[in-house]
Amino acid sequence: MPAFRPGQFLTFSLDLAAGAAGEESAGRAITRCYSLSDRPDPAQYRVTIKRVPAPPDHPEFLPGLSSNHFHDHVRAGDVLRVKAPSGHFFIDPDPSIPVVLIGGGIGITPMMSMLRWCIANQPQRSVHLFYGLRNSDEHAFKSGLEEMAALHPALRLHVVYSRPLAADVPGRDHRHAGHVDVELMRQTLPHGRHRFYVCGPPAMMQTLVPALAAWGVPVADIHYEAFGPATVKLPGAPEPAAPVATGVEVKFQRSGRTLVWTGQDASLLDFAERHGLEVESGCRSGGCGSCETRLLDGSVQYEHTPDHDVAAGHCLLCVGRPATPLVLEA
Ligand SMILES: Cc1cc2nc3c(=O)[nH]c(=O)nc-3n(C[C@H](O)[C@H](O)[C@H](O)COP(=O)(O)OP(=O)(O)OC[C@H]3O[C@@H](n4cnc5c(N)ncnc54)[C@H](O)[C@@H]3O)c2cc1C
Repeated sequence: MPAFRPGQFLTFSLDLAAGAAGEESAGRAITRCYSLSDRPDPAQYRVTIKRVPAPPDHPEFLPGLSSNHFHDHVRAGDVLRVKAPSGHFFIDPDPSIPVVLIGGGIGITPMMSMLRWCIANQPQRSVHLFYGLRNSDEHAFKSGLEEMAALHPALRLHVVYSRPLAADVPGRDHRHAGHVDVELMRQTLPHGRHRFYVCGPPAMMQTLVPALAAWGVPVADIHYEAFGPATVKLPGAPEPAAPVATGVEVKFQRSGRTLVWTGQDASLLDFAERHGLEVESGCRSGGCGSCETRLLDGSVQYEHTPDHDVAAGHCLLCVGRPATPLVLEA
């Protein structure tokens, strides 16, 4: 199978079976990304998927389509449609620079791949893994990580629970209470250069990544990936040019619709979906390229350069906004 670098992800295209996720979604094709969660192995890929329920404040919404589909309907022996591994979030191979892996919740998955690769290929390399989660209810890879930490002195494991359960024992289940933050790193990391890799929920990304830079970590040593839309601002990033906010026509050629961009949507993807247009999408954060669309006229602006390499003459709907009137092939 195509090789991958530790930290990269797979993009799945799933046909939801009738009745699998409620009548509204039956027969729909959806695209979702999942990080590879084990070290590269030419014979297999592994992904680790968290079942996503409806949001607590909106129990009437359908639960997560893809994650529940995987849990409830995908079985050993099934054949799935998947794109080759991709993404620019992967560990650098220089063994002389210690690494700090920071995973929040299910954001632990790319860290597992990086960690297992380091242990297999660079066992002397110092690795600090900070794993932030609520409590033992969602503690994935618990025994595997404890075994690795016991066997490999170069690995330092820092499990941080934000809402420990009454039965959770400090020192056994978690090492720290609270959140993974710069203060904790100041207390636990030795002096010297480290490469930081961060993947977690938007709130963690939006606070921790800029805090690392403010602490003095060079931007080139901070690598991060969000599992969905998250706005991370790092010093030195170019300020986006002001978007043309209102009154701009966007023509969707294949759909035969011309709509007016009013500036109320965060992206062309949200805009298209709000108007009932069916367009492909995946990560919703500029990483997977599933929403890449031919740009027949006009220009599109991005707040940050997307992680996915956009092909010439194309644009990404999920992180793009019109800078001029547009004609899109979709
Ligand atoms: C690069 C990358 C790597 C990733 N790696 C992993 C990984 O290793 N493991 C993993 O588990 N996940 C990973 N993800 C996240 C994964 O891709 C999916 O986003 C996740 O599984 C949720 O998808 P879903 O289809 O189950 O939920 P969705 O169907 O997308 O729903 C998400 C939430 O929205 C709610 N919702 C439903 N309708 C509405 C509505 N009308 N308005 C508002 N909310 C609504 C749902 O109830 C649910 O809570 C990764 C994402 C990216 C981009």
